[in-house]
Amino acid sequence: MKPAVFSYHKSTSVEEAVEWLEQHPEGKILAGGQSLIPLMNFRLSRPEELLDITGIPQLDTVSQTDGRLVLGGLIRHQALAEHEQVRRAAPVLAEAASHVGHWAIRNRGTLGGSLVHADPAAELPAAMVALDATFELVSRAGVREVPARDFYLGFLTTDIMQTELLTRVSIPSADGTAFGFAEVARRPGDFALAGCFVEVGQDTSGAITWFGISGGPERREITWSSDAQERAEAILEQLDTVDILDEEAYRHHVAQVVAEEAYRKAVRGIA
Ligand SMILES: Cc1cc2nc3c(=O)[nH]c(=O)nc-3n(C[C@H](O)[C@H](O)[C@H](O)COP(=O)(O)OP(=O)(O)OC[C@H]3O[C@@H](n4cnc5c(N)ncnc54)[C@H](O)[C@@H]3O)c2cc1C
Repeated sequence: MKPAVFSYHKSTSVEEAVEWLEQHPEGKILAGGQSLIPLMNFRLSRPEELLDITGIPQLDTVSQTDGRLVLGGLIRHQALAEHEQVRRAAPVLAEAASHVGHWAIRNRGTLGGSLVHADPAAELPAAMVALDATFELVSRAGVREVPARDFYLGFLTTDIMQTELLTRVSIPSADGTAFGFAEVARRPGDFALAGCFVEVGQDTSGAITWFGISGGPERREITWSSDAQERAEAILEQLDTVDILDEEAYRHHVAQVVAEEAYRKAVRGIA
């Protein structure tokens, strides 16, 4: 399959990119192309104008500012998985990034692309909800900071506007909260059937953020018990508040399994 005809522009700065977006209301950002180009090839998306942002060097950075991990929107999934600072500050994020597709996809796909595309089975949007990240969205009108927990509005739907570019993501320090991640996919590299991130606080408080089971990341607070039976009941109670999309009984079962696995990883200190 080949895409419909489109024109192509490559930007080298955020200022130039947001100006272009303002002037091309029907235009679309192209980052790693690992979601957009397949959609265009199947003619499910037919943008007439593309803005390639991969030439903007300031979006391809990892840093730490005021105790927060700051990631540029153009960080590739593979770089996220391997980066020393990410592995130290948010090991669960590095682990989750290593589960995104195959190596070739991770080598092209970008953090911003994954967060904005918002596939319900994607690891990174759920990771950002679990880690309480904040997204920086830039347009000609200025900068908007949106918590990841408010950004996801439903199936492939987010709070971003057509004129906005996701430039940075900032993640607070874990402050004693332990995180765990687990997913089940049919084959390595496939989208997950169900996955989750678990938070375990220093007391019995915590949360589970599921992905792949409904229209987007589903975060539920939970009180953890060290008793496996009580824990299973608490997980089930939260899971039953999620509107599971398809293959409901099976996905419901897998969602319980991954929650328990992620909990065990969190308490053992394994991302
Ligand atoms: C075979 C295959 C398997 C895959 N498996 C997985 C998987 O297991 N898990 C997973 O999470 N993903 C998976 N993916 C998708 C992959 O992670 C993509 O890299 C990601 O979804 C999109 O990132 P991208 O940089 O390629 O974005 P693009 O495809 O370039 O863009 C995606 C969308 O985001 C918009 N966009 C991109 N960057 C920005 C930005 N900075 N600001 C505003 N808007 C922006 C674009 O306009 C477009 O609408 C898979 C893809 C393939 C082809």
